[in-house]
Amino acid sequence: MLKIKKQVDLSRYNTLKISVKAAYFAIIKSETDLAEAYIWAKDKGLSVFVLGGGSNVLFSHNIKALVLKNEIKGVSVIKETAASAWLEARSGEAWSTLVNFAIERNWGGMENLYYVPGTVGAAPVQNIGAYGVELKDVFVSLRAFDLQTGKVKIFNKEECKFAYRDSVFKHKYKGRYFILSITVKLSKQAKLKLDYGDIKLKLKEQGIKKPKIRQLAEIIRQIRDSKLPNPAELANAGSFFKNPEVSLSAFKKIQGRFPEIKFFPSAKAGKIKIPAGWLIEQVGLKGKRFGSVAMYEKQALILVNYGGASAKQILTHVQRVQKAVEQKFAIKIEPEVNIIK
Ligand SMILES: Cc1cc2nc3c(=O)[nH]c(=O)nc-3n(C[C@H](O)[C@H](O)[C@H](O)COP(=O)(O)OP(=O)(O)OC[C@H]3O[C@@H](n4cnc5c(N)ncnc54)[C@H](O)[C@@H]3O)c2cc1C
Repeated sequence: MLKIKKQVDLSRYNTLKISVKAAYFAIIKSETDLAEAYIWAKDKGLSVFVLGGGSNVLFSHNIKALVLKNEIKGVSVIKETAASAWLEARSGEAWSTLVNFAIERNWGGMENLYYVPGTVGAAPVQNIGAYGVELKDVFVSLRAFDLQTGKVKIFNKEECKFAYRDSVFKHKYKGRYFILSITVKLSKQAKLKLDYGDIKLKLKEQGIKKPKIRQLAEIIRQIRDSKLPNPAELANAGSFFKNPEVSLSAFKKIQGRFPEIKFFPSAKAGKIKIPAGWLIEQVGLKGKRFGSVAMYEKQALILVNYGGASAKQILTHVQRVQKAVEQKFAIKIEPEVNIIK
């Protein structure tokens, strides 16, 4: 039977370690649990908030809703041909378990996304991406429970409207669906993506010319370990801001003033992506502490909580960073992390 608790502190359920309370809280281990929770919340006129690993949220205050911590687990092979394999993963499964499942079988496509924290169900919400690969590159479809109607809907890739750290689940359908499972298609003759600078460097250092999937995954792990703070040791939610995309003409103007500016091409025609971490560094906020909050000293894009920071202190810092960047570069940087209001 489903257990619903009252007034649960969420600090152990989010990697920024923000202490806010959920009015109601339940751990969901099956679709039956979810159906029960849905009816319970509907009867009480309460809204529902879906929580995975809490590695991409900033709770700004106590949550009046029923918070459902998703632990619906399992990964299975649903189809196989000589060239490809289709996996279905349930949404409460750790993303890393799904990636490991593929690596063990030497099936390629997700190895660059190795070690991204969080659950499978959150991956489509922001179309997770790392080292030149995004979820959309392997994504086939997902099943989702409609929290308004109680019905299950299948979304194909097009319907998810994936973009850079973005999908329909951050806009039109924000908070509307509980994603139940996703299906990905992997390759048995994968062409590995090795063009990212850090990957090339590590391969050279280790004298590897043609890495196997497992070797590439291990290299990704090493790169991530050397750059990203482990949330178990230093509270953070990964990259806090998205890299801004500006028009070519706007970029040229900035480049005129700051010839050393870093940039890379955007998937959007006519746009240039500027690393938000570089912008933050230029305004002198890398590693500069304000109480318990700072942009991380080794990677300016990551907002860290050295302990005990409140949501208010973090939000003040977010605005401080945005304002400083806007004043110097006339660019508005937007959070990648979901700010839960
Ligand atoms: C150290 C570190 C490194 C990171 N590196 C990367 C990276 O390289 N690339 C990258 O893209 N991200 C990265 N992230 C961000 C994060 O790992 C991803 O966004 C991840 O997908 C979040 O998963 P989660 O389960 O923790 O989601 P949560 O934080 O629990 O939720 C995030 C959002 O998704 C919604 N959600 C969660 N589960 C579901 C569901 N089943 N159905 C519907 N909505 C749902 C939530 O309501 C919330 O709005 C990093 C984070 C950390 C802490």
